[in-house]
Amino acid sequence: MKTILVAGGAGYIGSHMVALLVKRGYEVVVADNLRTGHWQAVKGARKMYVGDLRDGAFLHQIFTENKIDGVINFAAFSLVGESVTNPLKYYGNNVEGAVSLLSAMQAHGVDKIVFSSTAAAYGEPEKQPIEEGDRTEPTNPYGATKLAIENMLKWCDCAYNIRYVALRYFNAAGSDTEAGIGEDHNPESHLIPLVMKTALGQRDHIGIFGEDYPTPDGTCVRDYIHVKDLAEAHLLALEYLERGGSSDVFNLGNGAGYSVREIIETARRITGKEIKAVVEPRRGGDPSVLIASNKKAAEVLGWKPVLGLDQIVSDAWAWHSGHPNGYEG
Ligand code: UDP
Repeated sequence: MKTILVAGGAGYIGSHMVALLVKRGYEVVVADNLRTGHWQAVKGARKMYVGDLRDGAFLHQIFTENKIDGVINFAAFSLVGESVTNPLKYYGNNVEGAVSLLSAMQAHGVDKIVFSSTAAAYGEPEKQPIEEGDRTEPTNPYGATKLAIENMLKWCDCAYNIRYVALRYFNAAGSDTEAGIGEDHNPESHLIPLVMKTALGQRDHIGIFGEDYPTPDGTCVRDYIHVKDLAEAHLLALEYLERGGSSDVFNLGNGAGYSVREIIETARRITGKEIKAVVEPRRGGDPSVLIASNKKAAEVLGWKPVLGLDQIVSDAWAWHSGHPNGYEG
């Protein structure tokens, strides 16, 4: 049985990864500092280590107590706005954490890593849908830290033969209703959970950040991908590396775009709630359209997202209505 270290396994996407790995018969070890993650979200792991990736002794303990076959790294701060006002917090946690993790992997002879990257690595896109070879010029420090780690991984492959797959996520949403886990960020900044909180009556309205974009209804268009489809992609990436696949980068998105208004409409239909929406000023740094080409992941990894927008919204609703106060509820 293979043992996988999931760094950041108590976070939103990391916890869904843990649930899937356990379901597929992997042994899972989690490392998380619980700064933004929730211990309650970690289901079925053999052991959870609470500590910081930058702590070399902490990692040494994990790698000596467990025979790790591969690593999946989700551990990062991910608030775009905060990264602009506090870039060193992001370089410190995200980049230094990854340096430390790779050093431990090298020291302990672990040679496979799946890395959680982001569409923010592209910045303002040149064209739609976005392909992996397109220009990468992040417009915020969050995206810049993820891209810096992607570059570091490339050099670590050359120097130490640590092979990697970097996965650039578009807009992750939804939940694993069977595992009883979901999205619980504090503060929450993402559209779908905020719409759910509005449907629950926890907020008076959802703000629509700008309706003067060059899109069909004037609101921003994004590519929403179910968190369970994302987790499946990581597993395929891991299996690809286990088969000897070479290091590579893949987009993870549905390949379809929905506007902010379309998301709100879908949520009204699925929840049966009114969900008041108020147009507000644009949010700084938002590109008008972000849609992934997922062709490369389909061809190389054999990944096809199967859960569409209705499933994303209904699973998000199941989580939020069942856990109105998140994991603390
Ligand atoms: N958005 C919005 N109101 C909100 C939160 C987000 O209109 O309260 C918009 C945001 O401007 C973007 C889209 O919804 O166009 C998705 O934003 P989110 O923060 O969920 O993800 P991002 O695309 O920034 O990764």
